[in-house]
Amino acid sequence: MDLVLLEETLRERGEPAFRARQVWEWTARGAPGYDAMTNLPRALRAELASAVRFSTLAVETERESRDGTVKTLFRTADGHPVEAVLMRYRDGRRSLCLSSQSGCPLTCTFCATGTMAFGRNLTASEILDQALHFRRLTEVDHAVFMGMGEPMLNLDEVLTAARRLPDLGITHRRTTVSTVGWLPGLRRFVDEVDEPIRLALSLHAPDDELRSRIMPVNERYPVADIVAECRRQAEATRRRVFVEYVMLAGVNDAPEQARALAALLGRDHFKVNLIPYNPWAASAGGQATGARPNTPPTAAGGLYEGSSRERIAAFRHELERARVPVTVRLTRGRDIEAACGQLAAAPRVRRRSAPGSTPAPARPQALSAPRSRT
Ligand code: SAH
Repeated sequence: MDLVLLEETLRERGEPAFRARQVWEWTARGAPGYDAMTNLPRALRAELASAVRFSTLAVETERESRDGTVKTLFRTADGHPVEAVLMRYRDGRRSLCLSSQSGCPLTCTFCATGTMAFGRNLTASEILDQALHFRRLTEVDHAVFMGMGEPMLNLDEVLTAARRLPDLGITHRRTTVSTVGWLPGLRRFVDEVDEPIRLALSLHAPDDELRSRIMPVNERYPVADIVAECRRQAEATRRRVFVEYVMLAGVNDAPEQARALAALLGRDHFKVNLIPYNPWAASAGGQATGARPNTPPTAAGGLYEGSSRERIAAFRHELERARVPVTVRLTRGRDIEAACGQLAAAPRVRRRSAPGSTPAPARPQALSAPRSRT
């Protein structure tokens, strides 16, 4: 629901100030439409139904995984695709994975979203409408900004949305904003966010040489700077920053890389989340996986192979020996391409160029994200 339009519409009608709050409270608690808002005059309900669309997003498709994970593809009013995921866990947790942008201007080589065309930043209402969609299906209690897009490139809208999530049942402590380490936004997050919203850093490599190879954004904001900024956050909030580390066979999963990671992070400020790599596109179905298991990638991320269980366990063991807190993330919704890094609404527009081919089309100037070097 476009909350700005809602307030304008109510004001123009001369409605009392509490009306907008009434409408929001119903909506946040999962009401299916204006008609359910029984403390609003009937005529007003009808008028709102025609003046303010109940959701800014239209559901295009929805798939449910064997494990209960639900992935929904939405369209914005101007046609941009947006995906979001509901994860239901055995212990009762209901966690939402929300998108902050349609597509993503960054080109992390292992992430499917980076291969689709970048659309635009989402508004706070478009972000909230993803959450509200699932709130109408079930109660929810956790949210992660780990869907499409880089939240720090759209920080104001992300925060406006995150600040309303408690009304849906998701407290700030159970809300996590995840970033590649886009420094301007990250600095603002550290300086300006007073709420106990959690921060996660997608690191994926312990040094600049490797990180730049798998995440071109690292050319712009190197490891030392982003880790320092996250350490500042951990010190200011006295809570650990999560470090996400997707396990790519033969690329970043060696024991010595675990030791380098431990030395980089230290014991006190971070908690590492090892993420099993989720194949997508060319590699989903297994054809291309393992094409070059022990060579670093040169082009599209569909060529990666996930680290074996043993390799992940050994990596974890090294971190534990160095007393760095570490967990291995459960993968959910793989069978419906709803797992981490798999969100890329069709049609897939591949704009990552293979060596020797024509370069990818230019990205929006305002964002001026670094290009992939491959
Ligand atoms: N741009 C933000 C938000 C997206 S989060 C960020 O990068 O943090 C998406 C998370 O899933 C990130 O940690 C990302 O690195 C991880 N991811 C991306 N592709 C993946 C894949 N194929 N398998 C597993 N995790 C992946």
